[in-house]
Amino acid sequence: MIDAMAIAKLWGGKSRTAIPAYTHAVADTMEDLYQEIDKIRAEGYRHIRCQLGFYGGIPDDLQTPESPIAGTYFDQDDYIRNTVHMFAALREKYGDSFHILHDVHERLFPNQAIQFAKDLEPYKPYFIEDLLPPDQNEWLAQLRNQCAVPIATGELFNNPMEWKHLIVNRRIDYLRCHVSQLGGITPALKLAAFCAAFGIRIAWHTPSDITPIGLAVNTHLNIHLHNAAIQENIELKKNTKCVFPGYNEAKGGYFYPIDRPGIGVDIDEQEITKYPVAYRPHEWTQSRIPDGTIVTP
Ligand code: MG
Repeated sequence: MIDAMAIAKLWGGKSRTAIPAYTHAVADTMEDLYQEIDKIRAEGYRHIRCQLGFYGGIPDDLQTPESPIAGTYFDQDDYIRNTVHMFAALREKYGDSFHILHDVHERLFPNQAIQFAKDLEPYKPYFIEDLLPPDQNEWLAQLRNQCAVPIATGELFNNPMEWKHLIVNRRIDYLRCHVSQLGGITPALKLAAFCAAFGIRIAWHTPSDITPIGLAVNTHLNIHLHNAAIQENIELKKNTKCVFPGYNEAKGGYFYPIDRPGIGVDIDEQEITKYPVAYRPHEWTQSRIPDGTIVTP
């Protein structure tokens, strides 16, 4: 008889003691960003995704046409300038005492994205995420010929044709697919083994809209997979904790193995009825440049 065991043990066990976690510091001004970062560092994190402004930086002098369409407006040039300034200021203040990550959310045109990556190269980011939308990833070939900034992408991928050429041509450093979106645990294990053969590391997408079950699956994968690099983390809300008994959390900047049978997280089917889904257009899908053009995603 086989005892019930944690899924990471079922796959063959651990590759590491714990997986480093990163979380997000977001603010509209550098002073507020410093406060966020100081708080996160005090919790033990040494990897922090730093963003200045909501999805795009602070427009210095944003002049839109009359009667603008509703949306979240930003100027790509201001975003680039402000974010490069942010990296410089963070390195000036904190030196190399923590790893800086940054997410572009595909909101630049291809040549802007290449210039931006080159601008950031001297500040040694841990990785730059989603520089380009999936349909423009062929531009990564030009980017790789011009700079060595570590590139992470994959949260919007759905099928192997979207990642195969990026992996075999070594155009990225970190693949960050969303495990349920690519088909679940078995396709995730296969994909990670495929990446390992090409020296590409894994940073599964783990945003605030993933459930604690998905979070726990990512932790099991990250403890097991030799080429797992880092685990994203957004602090769980109190309501979420009530619905998912057994949830796991980061401690001192790391996620530790979950030593319970299976995934190790349950759903309280009574509790979950208190929180019906409310659909709304999310503001992050309504990004517009000053003339009103919508940009990805
Ligand atoms: Mg992202």
